[in-house]
Amino acid sequence: MTVSLKSLIEDWKGVGVVVRYDQPTGTWIFIALHNDTLGPCTGGTRMKMYPSPAIALEDAMRLGEGMTYKWAAVDVAFGGGKAVLAVPRPLEGEERTGLLTRYGQLIESLNGTFGTGVDLGTTPDDMLVISRATSYVHGVDRTTGSAIDPGPYTARGVLAGMRAAVRVAFGSDGLRGKVVHIQGVGDVGAPLARMLKDAGADLRFSDIDTRRAEALAEELGGAETFEPHTAYEARCDVYAPCAVGATLNAETIPELKCRVVAGSANNQLASLEDAERLHERGILYAPDYIVNAGGAIAFAMIGRGVTDEAEICERVDAIDGSLTGILAEAARVNESPVHAAQRAVDERLAKGGDR
Ligand code: NAD
Repeated sequence: MTVSLKSLIEDWKGVGVVVRYDQPTGTWIFIALHNDTLGPCTGGTRMKMYPSPAIALEDAMRLGEGMTYKWAAVDVAFGGGKAVLAVPRPLEGEERTGLLTRYGQLIESLNGTFGTGVDLGTTPDDMLVISRATSYVHGVDRTTGSAIDPGPYTARGVLAGMRAAVRVAFGSDGLRGKVVHIQGVGDVGAPLARMLKDAGADLRFSDIDTRRAEALAEELGGAETFEPHTAYEARCDVYAPCAVGATLNAETIPELKCRVVAGSANNQLASLEDAERLHERGILYAPDYIVNAGGAIAFAMIGRGVTDEAEICERVDAIDGSLTGILAEAARVNESPVHAAQRAVDERLAKGGDR
């Protein structure tokens, strides 16, 4: 163990870290258990090549902490955790299956201390492999043995958050006639577009895959599509970042011509100062980790054996209520919702869980 790995683990304020070196593939496995106040540590599994094991561990720790905030913000009884499989090269075929199987066995040996699902670099099919070795995997339908797509649930949650934000910004939660620009029409953006269309919104799309944006525009009866580089300056009521992180930064924020930002992308703010930049410009920012929690909420419920789709959707829709409270508090003290969200998380964690 290098000194930096040792000091990272010693200095961390989390519950602890599970470390395993997978000899056959040369993969470092880190399971960062951040906080189990509300329930068992739960978060996705990221598979990626990192410059060093220490950087991989730091990533797992940072992401695990983010999961603590996400669960607390939407008041779901899970704790924060995240796993990183720091692979030395892209793994395919038997090598990949072998690693995932051994990783599944490691999770199983933790007896429910950690539960996981897909994240960057892992696929629903990977979760199926892991689920053969452990029951602590979310996003797998055990009756059919198939993977469940989180995108539509996440999109539903974004829609709920968008309604809350629009209600605060415009004084009514009607999305009818609101101009919504979706950046990235993939697994989340496309179902979100369909839901917004049903709600009567006036849609705009941009995607680096311009054919994908055009195909969706055609499917939905002719929404307007924009070149990706013009996304920030396009006039709209709501900008919905559903592609990559850090799109809200010192360069883009002065360009924005919207009243609300609400989308699924993780880590939308390049830095905390960008929350102030948005606030100063009078643009209402719906914190990403609240708005994009729909898929996580749904998977958590399915993992607990909930099969009633209406019950799952109702819980995802409750993102509206969670965000409404945070936006009201932010308005009361005239601050960015990012700060109000952080306080709400701290208060929820201070109250503790039911376990
Ligand atoms: P995806 O890969 O299915 O879709 C992303 C889309 O964005 C693609 O169509 C891609 O071509 C496009 N894109 C990529 N870079 C772009 C850019 N610079 N400008 C415009 N378009 C660009 O991903 P997804 O599953 O839809 O996730 C979208 C975002 O939401 C990601 O940040 C993801 O981390 C986050 N998120 C997703 C889920 C989920 O349930 N899938 C849950 C929580 C958060």
